[in-house]
Amino acid sequence: MKGVGPKRAQEFQRKGIQSLEDALYYFPLRYEDRTRICGPKDLYKVEEGTSISVLATIQSVREIPLKGKKSRLIELVAIGDDGGLLSCTWFQSYKGLKEKLEIGKKFIFQGKLKKFRGAPQIIHPEFELQTASTSKKQKKSIHWGRVVPIYSRSEILSQKFIRETLFHCLEIAVPQLNDLLPDQVREKHQLISIQDAFKEIHFPSNYFAIDQISSNNLPPAYRRFIFEEFFKFQLILKMDRTKIKKLPAQSFSGKNELFELIKAQLPFELTQGQKQAIEEIRKDVAEPIAMNRIVQGDVGSGKTLVAILSACNILDQNAQVALMAPTEILAEQHYRLVQSLFENSSIRVALLTGSLPKKEKEKIQLGIREGHYHFVVGTHALIQASVQWNNLGLVIIDEQHRFGVNQRTQFLAQPGSNLSPHMVTMTATPIPRSLALTVFGELQVSTITELPAGRSPIKTKVIAGSERNKLYNLIKKEVSTGRQAYLVYPLVSESESEGFEHLKSVEKEFVRLKNGPLAELNIAFVHGKLPNEERLKIMNEFKEGKVHVLLSTTVIEVGVDVPNATVMGIENAERFGLSQLHQLRGRIGRGKHQGYCVLVTDSKPPSTSQANFDLEEGVEEESPWVRLQKLEISTSGFEISEFDLKLRGPGDFFGTKQSGSPTFRLADLVRDIDLLENARNAADLILQDDPNLSNAEHTNLKKWSSKVLEAASKNLKSG
Ligand code: ADP
Ligand code: MG
Repeated sequence: MKGVGPKRAQEFQRKGIQSLEDALYYFPLRYEDRTRICGPKDLYKVEEGTSISVLATIQSVREIPLKGKKSRLIELVAIGDDGGLLSCTWFQSYKGLKEKLEIGKKFIFQGKLKKFRGAPQIIHPEFELQTASTSKKQKKSIHWGRVVPIYSRSEILSQKFIRETLFHCLEIAVPQLNDLLPDQVREKHQLISIQDAFKEIHFPSNYFAIDQISSNNLPPAYRRFIFEEFFKFQLILKMDRTKIKKLPAQSFSGKNELFELIKAQLPFELTQGQKQAIEEIRKDVAEPIAMNRIVQGDVGSGKTLVAILSACNILDQNAQVALMAPTEILAEQHYRLVQSLFENSSIRVALLTGSLPKKEKEKIQLGIREGHYHFVVGTHALIQASVQWNNLGLVIIDEQHRFGVNQRTQFLAQPGSNLSPHMVTMTATPIPRSLALTVFGELQVSTITELPAGRSPIKTKVIAGSERNKLYNLIKKEVSTGRQAYLVYPLVSESESEGFEHLKSVEKEFVRLKNGPLAELNIAFVHGKLPNEERLKIMNEFKEGKVHVLLSTTVIEVGVDVPNATVMGIENAERFGLSQLHQLRGRIGRGKHQGYCVLVTDSKPPSTSQANFDLEEGVEEESPWVRLQKLEISTSGFEISEFDLKLRGPGDFFGTKQSGSPTFRLADLVRDIDLLENARNAADLILQDDPNLSNAEHTNLKKWSSKVLEAASKNLKSG
């Protein structure tokens, strides 16, 4: 695309845009009605704050140096054909701005109307020179004389630039699009074509306010996309039959001996939510149908113990239990916990991870096959083909949002057996109820709503990079009272930083802190590239309190449990999603001490005087700082994840992020319930007549669904 060099390409990539398809699906946040272009005199009747497009000729441009600053203020006066005057102000000039503002030339200025002593004014307007062709309206401008899209932008990608790029993407891509919806379906449900839908969603012919859309005034493009989202979803769900079949399983209605033995070792009472989740699982596994349950509860709500206690029933009946964690660190930690809890029983515990030496791995695999090991903790290594179970009764998957949706098919109770193990997944990223029902059908949900008693909420603060010393002082103070701290960075080492020079790395910061700000403390680092043994050693030293401050990448994101740690400092916090930051924050405040989370960012704080203006244009930009502040005010994972959901869409809940897989970008499961029904019926009808989608009118659908199903199964195999 024109104008997209490496820097902008990278920024687009960060926004999830790598292909034309991605770009087409980069939907606007809202629209602005710029169909009417007016003269300055019209503005006397218009209210302040209204978005306006004004046609006027530049009369004068003044540059005013600002005291103590390098940048200059620019003030411009333009006159309309109606003789009225408009003034425009830039509080901060930028390279090439003054040169563009040619005196005597006619421009369109766009922005929010302000009145200065009654006279119309725009601050930081968008503007465009009116050449003969645009003024004669031969060629419609991208930016005015129409309803224009407003996208989520960033410092590097200006609103105008994104809009132009999207406009050209549409020109190129739309003629090449295949409509997945068969004509018949479109006609029956009165849906516009995919071509029109993309054009209309980016550059609508009529203005509409997105926040005022309701079920009975859905714009045609919205109706079409939402229908398609549901339709695709239902289709894949039906075609991927493993998900809807009820699978036979062993039933476990155990004795309570082991359960009581383990429970008695806990230094605390279970919370109400924990008890209930355990009870629900107990009922499920007593049925001869494979359980498929998800336990959702905020970080720190004690899901690990729910998992371990639920395993007792199964172990009591001499079946095996697998506990799968997304990272080695977490698997190791779970392993140690399980081992210590079952120490006084006859249960044999093993750890199976990918990085074990080959011999060791084979030994454990043999032990699993022969039924020597009862409780096996591990990573993806557990679902490799070389792992055969002797009698697998229960699979526990921790932090399931990090795996694919359907790991179930990866586990067999025994080679050759038709029994499936029961399955329970633990997650801190809650799935909205309505989504769970639609998506997973028979999936059961247990929710732990409370945290163990006696925890005080973590205090969270966003600070600028220049205030970093406050963080170090806090760490020193906490360490002096016996506490510990984490520092998290986006990169492992500098060698990764090409193109990301502004990001901090674990290794470089380690050297800097060691020789400077934190010299008097014992600091160490871990990351995914360290040899296993070394990582384990350092984690142990941290657990034992020998290491005061642990520097790390997000490998410690999930599950790690060191209750004595009270400070979590996160650098380049703007690079992380809110839910991810919340997870990280969940590493502290686990004991009885007050926890502090400090988010360090170099993004601009929202300035009070010019909060609504960004540098080039009069439109708001996505401000990382404001986004991060959400964490200062909320400590609820549910709330934060909902906020994230609004920002990013629910695609993540499927764990499958490859392009083309069904996502709900526009659909609202409450508002659009009627469309959901219609789409579901349409998909069911098609599959009834043509289960393999081999009819000619289903060619596009067939191509799409094969791609998605194949990608999904690959995703599972590679984990
Ligand atoms: P998560 O739900 O995030 O996986 P964990 O299982 O790691 O949470 O538990 C967090 C901490 O809370 C652990 O240190 C655990 O020992 C402790 N914990 C779990 N249940 C309780 C409880 N009922 N009362 C007090 N502490 C608990
Ligand atoms: Mg956990």
